[in-house]
Amino acid sequence: TPPPGPEGAPSEPRPVPGACFTRVRPTPLQHPRLVALSEPALALLGLGAPPADDDASREAREAEAALFFSGNALLPGAEPAAHCYCGHQFGQFAGQLGDGAAMYLGEVCTASGERWELQLKGTGPTPFSRQADGRKVLRSSIREFLCSEAMFHLGVPTTRAGACVTSQSTVVRDVFYDGNPKREPCAVVLRIAPTFLRFGSFEIFKSTDEHTGRAGPSVGRNDIRIQMLDYVIGTFYPEIQAAHVGDSVQRNAAFFREVTRRTARMVAEWQCVGFCHGVLNTDNMSVLGLTIDYGPFGFLDRYDPDHVCNASDNAGRYAYNKQPEVCKWNLQKLAEALEPELPLALAKAILAEEYDAEFRSHYLHKMRRKLGLVRAACEEDAALVARLLETMQQTGADFTNTFYLLSSFPVEPGSLGLADFLTALTTQCASLEELRLAFRPQMDPRQLSMMLMLAQSNPQLLALIGTQANVTKELERMEQLSRLEQLSPAELLSRNRDQWADWLQEYRARLEKDREGAGDAAAWQAERVRVMHASNPKYVLRNYMAQDAIAAAENGDFSEVRRVLKLLEAPYCTEGEATEALEAAEPEGTSGAAGRRRSYSSKPPLWAAELCVT
Ligand code: AMP
Ligand code: MG
Ligand code: MG
Repeated sequence: TPPPGPEGAPSEPRPVPGACFTRVRPTPLQHPRLVALSEPALALLGLGAPPADDDASREAREAEAALFFSGNALLPGAEPAAHCYCGHQFGQFAGQLGDGAAMYLGEVCTASGERWELQLKGTGPTPFSRQADGRKVLRSSIREFLCSEAMFHLGVPTTRAGACVTSQSTVVRDVFYDGNPKREPCAVVLRIAPTFLRFGSFEIFKSTDEHTGRAGPSVGRNDIRIQMLDYVIGTFYPEIQAAHVGDSVQRNAAFFREVTRRTARMVAEWQCVGFCHGVLNTDNMSVLGLTIDYGPFGFLDRYDPDHVCNASDNAGRYAYNKQPEVCKWNLQKLAEALEPELPLALAKAILAEEYDAEFRSHYLHKMRRKLGLVRAACEEDAALVARLLETMQQTGADFTNTFYLLSSFPVEPGSLGLADFLTALTTQCASLEELRLAFRPQMDPRQLSMMLMLAQSNPQLLALIGTQANVTKELERMEQLSRLEQLSPAELLSRNRDQWADWLQEYRARLEKDREGAGDAAAWQAERVRVMHASNPKYVLRNYMAQDAIAAAENGDFSEVRRVLKLLEAPYCTEGEATEALEAAEPEGTSGAAGRRRSYSSKPPLWAAELCVT
């Protein structure tokens, strides 16, 4: 299709017959200003940083970054385009979606033969923006920027972020302070990945007749589907392409098998760092098994397997503990979209064969490392992990801090440190006040009683409006709360201590078995601690950390964003190393920032429980 005029993309949504991409132009922003750069991400593109002491070069670089990474100027050779894709959103086929806010710029091919796709997100309307403006606000951009990089440094497969740029252009979003709409600054994130193609990039070729009737522009175009498959497999899975020349069904089967395995491993990694994605629609599932599209994500603080991080996910479809099954469901949708190039029966057999097994084995492998079980696996390891999680849930333990603390568990039976260790463990569990806050009623009592009446008389209707889960949850919460109300803080503490003592006894027995299998006990102990420190992050991007950085950035101070980024670049380091990294990141004489410094590895503050992300 011809490129739109210099005024930017047309604001009217329009079909793009027979095409998966359409040329677009970023709409310029007023006074773009750099919030932060990720040096490790930019290094992928061969964009090395100037020396730290060369202030003039750094300033010039920041100004250049603001210009190019806002989309106000185009990088030489860039050919901006918006991708047309489909998707299942919250379980329903949503028809054509497409990149309404992100623009593909092209690829950077490095001297070492790597190939990186660049995207700018928030650069204004595209033909797929529907009624929206194609803009992103500063707060969501900072979250995406920081989390992309945090996940990479945690070792989770993810797309990257190279820059975050803010501006003096503003938009109104549905955030209300004192009942008034608030204007927020527009921002842009530079995203980097081998490709941003997603399951939805294949769903666009599906016939929509049996669903909503909302047809995509490329519906039924088998020729484009084949081109897309050839491109994805040939470019990103060259070994599969080479191994199946002349047998496209077998090639496509091998591709689907590999996507299945990668997706299973990715979600296992999420579960092991307590990451909740928040919007696991099929248009947010990468064909490379990367975590993509950071929106209302969240890391677990207090361990709650039912945690829902996306405030608009009313039915809890994308709760933490549902992520593995939801990703499998999404793979099933990919399989349906690959028909007839891959027969559905074959794809289903692959999914059944691979997914659960790959998830379980990767999850258990990671969990064993998190527990420092470095020798041969035991049959009971999965049960040990399950009982740990149960104990964490019952005692309101912090997910990240519990695992981190376990690295210093005194292994010797009868060892002197056990009492102190138990105290440390129970101190990071939620206090009575926090628990009461966590289980306070969420529904208006009148609303709840109406829902209960409805549930008795017409459960189908209730399920249809998606509140069945809410009502059940609310009743459970009320029960929890009334139990909590009968407890004193001292009783809670002693109950928590007992529960942890029980689990630790089991853990210690398992560790002893592990040590017996090792020849040299001292070497075993050193290895165990090393593996645990490399598997249990001290820092994850907790909502409150992002929130603090956002609040400062909205006031024009980007130092907290930069400091948090630095911290998250070394999530596994020891306290001493982390302090050094922090000091290095902090320009001298920034009194405000120094005053605000806190231990990022402590529990979130109470106000963090009230944070709401959509
Ligand atoms: P998400 O939930 O972020 O995956 O977005 C769902 C769909 O909405 C995608 O097709 C996006 O491109 C589109 N979208 C999200 N935000 C905007 C926006 N500000 N303007 C236009 N389209 C958007
Ligand atoms: Mg998306
Ligand atoms: Mg999004």
